[in-house]
Amino acid sequence: MTNPFSTPSSLPFGMPPFADITDEHYRPAFERGMAEQLAEVEAITSNPDGPTFENTMIPLETSGQLLDRVATVFFNKVSADGNDFTAELEEEIAPLLAAHADAIRLNSALYSRIKELHSSLATLGLDAESSYLIERYFAEYTIAGAGLDESQKELLRGYNQKLSTATTRFEKRLLADTNDLALVIDDVRELDGLEPGELSAAAEAAKERGLDGKYLVTLVLPTGHPWLASLTNRDVRARIMAASRARGARGGDWDTSELVLEITRLRAERARLLGFDSHAAWVIADETAKTPQRVAAMLDKLAVPAARNALKEQAALQAQAGFAIEAHDWSFYSEKVRQATYEVDEVAMRPYFEAERVLQDGVFYAATKLYGVTFTERADIAAYHPDVRVFEVTDEDGTAVGLYTLDLYTRDSKRGGAWMNSLISQSRLLGHPVIVTNNLNVPKPASGEPTLLTYDEVNTFFHEFGHALHGLFARVTYPRFAGTNTFRDFVEFPSQVNEMWMLWPEVIENYAVHYETGERMPAEFVQKIQASAQFNEGFATSEYLAAALLDQAWHTLTADDIVTDVAAFEAGALARVGLNNPAVPTRYSSTYFQHTFSGGYDAGYYSYIWSEVLDADTVEWFKANGGLTRGNGDRFRRLLLGVGGSKDPLEAFRDFRGRDAEIQPLLDRRGLN
Ligand SMILES: [Zn+2]
Repeated sequence: MTNPFSTPSSLPFGMPPFADITDEHYRPAFERGMAEQLAEVEAITSNPDGPTFENTMIPLETSGQLLDRVATVFFNKVSADGNDFTAELEEEIAPLLAAHADAIRLNSALYSRIKELHSSLATLGLDAESSYLIERYFAEYTIAGAGLDESQKELLRGYNQKLSTATTRFEKRLLADTNDLALVIDDVRELDGLEPGELSAAAEAAKERGLDGKYLVTLVLPTGHPWLASLTNRDVRARIMAASRARGARGGDWDTSELVLEITRLRAERARLLGFDSHAAWVIADETAKTPQRVAAMLDKLAVPAARNALKEQAALQAQAGFAIEAHDWSFYSEKVRQATYEVDEVAMRPYFEAERVLQDGVFYAATKLYGVTFTERADIAAYHPDVRVFEVTDEDGTAVGLYTLDLYTRDSKRGGAWMNSLISQSRLLGHPVIVTNNLNVPKPASGEPTLLTYDEVNTFFHEFGHALHGLFARVTYPRFAGTNTFRDFVEFPSQVNEMWMLWPEVIENYAVHYETGERMPAEFVQKIQASAQFNEGFATSEYLAAALLDQAWHTLTADDIVTDVAAFEAGALARVGLNNPAVPTRYSSTYFQHTFSGGYDAGYYSYIWSEVLDADTVEWFKANGGLTRGNGDRFRRLLLGVGGSKDPLEAFRDFRGRDAEIQPLLDRRGLN
C-alpha cells in the first residue's frame, strides 16, 4: 500500500524503484510532496530567530525531497516513455507545480530572510560555495518577483500558471501532430537511396502502428530530416519537408499558432510586471550574457557572413543539380557536392559507426583516456524501460562515480531530439549519489541487424555524453548546484567540448571499425572530413541563427506589441536579419519550436553559439597542450566539470583557461572571418 516515492530508494545508487511504480502513484506523491515542502518552508519562516545560514539556507536546500523524487521520475517518463495517462497528468500537474514554485519563490517572509543574509554576506564567514548559494537564491528570487507587493504577486502567479498550462499544451499538440504527420509509404521504391538499416527501421515503425508491409518516415524535431540527404525521389523529399514544416500550423486540434501568440503575449506582460522591457530582457538578466543587446550584437555579427556563405554554397549546389534547388534538395545535393569536392561519403562511413563500438570504443574510451574512468554494464539494475542500459562508472582508484544510463532508440512514446537528464542528482548535504541518462532518437533496426549510426548521430552521442560527464563529475555540497544546474547559456559548453573527441585520431581509430569486415575506417575518410570541416557551414550556421534570432524576436516584443499572424511575424523577423533565403529554412519554425515554447530555451536558444565561443577556445587549449591526456582531462574535470553550478561559471572558465574566452576560434571554425 505504501507509495514507492514516500521514502528514498534503497536500490543501488538511489536508482528509483521503477518496477514498483505505477501510474496511480504519481498524483498522491505530487500532492503530498508539495504539501510537505510548503510545511518545511513554513517551518523556516515561522522561526522567531533571525535568519542564519543554518536556520534558513540549509533547511531550504533539504526541503522538497519527496517532490523531487516524484518529479524526477515523472518528467523523465513524460519525455522518454510517455503515454496518454502521463500526458493528461502532466497537463493537470504542471500549473500546480508552477503555483507551488511560486508559493516558495514569492514567499515574502522567506525572501526577507534571504535578503537579510545577502546584505550581511561579507560578515557571515561562509565558505565560497555557501556564499554563492545565498547570492544565487537572492538573484533568482529577486528576478522572479519576490520583491513585488502582494497584489502584483497575485497577478504574477496568474501569469505563471497560465504559461505553465499553455507551454504544456504546446508540447502535447506538437508531439501529436509530429506523430500524425509521419509519412506512410506504400511502395519501397519510393525510398530509393536509403540504407537497408533505415528501410528496416521504417518497416518496423510502420508495423508498430499496425501498418504491416508499409514504411513509415517518422519526423524528427528540426526542419531538416536526415533522410533528405539520400532519398533520390524528389517528390518524397518534398513531402517530408512539407510535413516537417506543417507541424503545428495545419489548423485543427493540434495547431499551435494560437499558443505561440498566447505564450509570447503572456511572457511579455509578465516581464512588464517584473519591471523589464521584454521577456528576453528578464530571462537574460540572469544569464552570463546579461542583456538581449549583447546577444543581438553577437548574433547580428554572425548573421551577415553566414547568409553570404550559404549563398555561395547554394550556387555550388545549383551547379551540381542543374536547376534552382529548394529547401528539400539542399542536403541531397550538398551530399553530392561534398562527395565530389572532398570525396566524403557519409553513407559509406556508416558501416564504421556501429552503435556498440561507438559507445564502448569511442565515447567511453575517450573518457577513460581523459579522466581515467571505466564503465561496467550493470544488467542487474533495471531502469525505466527495457531498452535502457545501465553502466557503473568507476574512477581509476576504484571509487564509484555514479551510474550512466543510455536510452538510444526512438519510439512513439519518446519526444524528439536528444538530451541528458538525471535520475538522482549528487549532493553532499543530502548524501546523494548520481545517476545520469542520455536519450537519443536512433531508429531501431529489425532484430538481428546492427545499429549503424549516421555521422550526426555519432556527434550527438559525444555531445550528450559531455552533458553526462558534467552531471557525473560535479561534486557539490548543495543540491541547488548539482551537475548541470548552471546557467543556460553556459550549460552547452562542456557537451560541445566533448564533441571534439569524435574525430580525434586516437579515438576514431579505436572505434570506427567496419561492422562486417572488422577493418578500420580508412584514414583518408577522417582527413577528408577534416578538410571539409567548413563545408556547408554557411547553411548550418544560417539555419541555427535563424532559429536563435526568431526566438529573440518573439521574446523582445514588449507588452504593447500586438502580433496576430505567426507566419507573417516569422517571415518579417527573418527578413530583417537577412536570413530569409527560402532554400535555407530556419531550423525550427515558430509552430514547432519546442525549445522556445515548451523546452526551457525561451529567449535562450542563442545559448548554443554563445557557449560555442567557450568551446572553440577550449578546443584550442586542448590542442595546444597535447590533446587527449590524463593531465588535460584532470584539469578540465577539476576546474570545470567538477565544479557543477557551485561557482560563477565564467570564473571557473578563467580558472581553467587562464583568461576570458576569445571569439576568434569560433569564427575560424565556422569560416565566418
Ligand atoms: Zn546539449
